[in-house]
Amino acid sequence: MDKIQLKDKKFKLFIPQESIAKAVAQVARQIEQDIKQQENREVLFVCILNGAFMFASELMSELNESYEITFARYSSYAGTNSTGVLHEIMPIKENIQGKTLILLEDIIDTGFTMKHVIAKLKEQGAAEVKLATMLFKPESLRCDLKPDYVGMQIPPAFIVGHGLDYDGLGRAYRDIYVIDE
Ligand code: 5GP
Repeated sequence: MDKIQLKDKKFKLFIPQESIAKAVAQVARQIEQDIKQQENREVLFVCILNGAFMFASELMSELNESYEITFARYSSYAGTNSTGVLHEIMPIKENIQGKTLILLEDIIDTGFTMKHVIAKLKEQGAAEVKLATMLFKPESLRCDLKPDYVGMQIPPAFIVGHGLDYDGLGRAYRDIYVIDE
């Protein structure tokens, strides 16, 4: 499908699923290389809900070894002149003390959500927190966040599909669509 409509908005095809699959496989290889170099530390993958469910599922099945994965959900409200406040909707249930966490995120826009989440998890005792994101909008970044693994960089437009929604819809499309204005 080249065009879709979700509620009042039209979207056009932007990234076909084949390109996403290649990017995910590349991220998996990079993560595996890094994990090999620190064999003594326990690794826990964290799928950041809701948007990262497809990315997390594909990435985990690309890895050649089996690793533990858990799920968490956060939201951040950006104030008018502040950097936002983190709300832990569903915190990590597992013990994270002394572990290497690898956060799996759908997209980084301003970066505030992940910046707050990483700070919180370090405060709660994680030894190291790495960030893997399927998509990154570098021009939208508003803080000093540096993702460790990036599937693809994209311009600052609103997208849906492959986990990402518009008002609750569109998450299940395998391809990624951009708003058609
Ligand atoms: P940040 O804190 O980096 O600004 O926000 C990241 C979150 O905003 C993502 O996890 C995602 O839920 C949402 N987001 C950012 N850009 C987009 C986009 O283009 N499309 C959709 N559907 N959500 C986005």
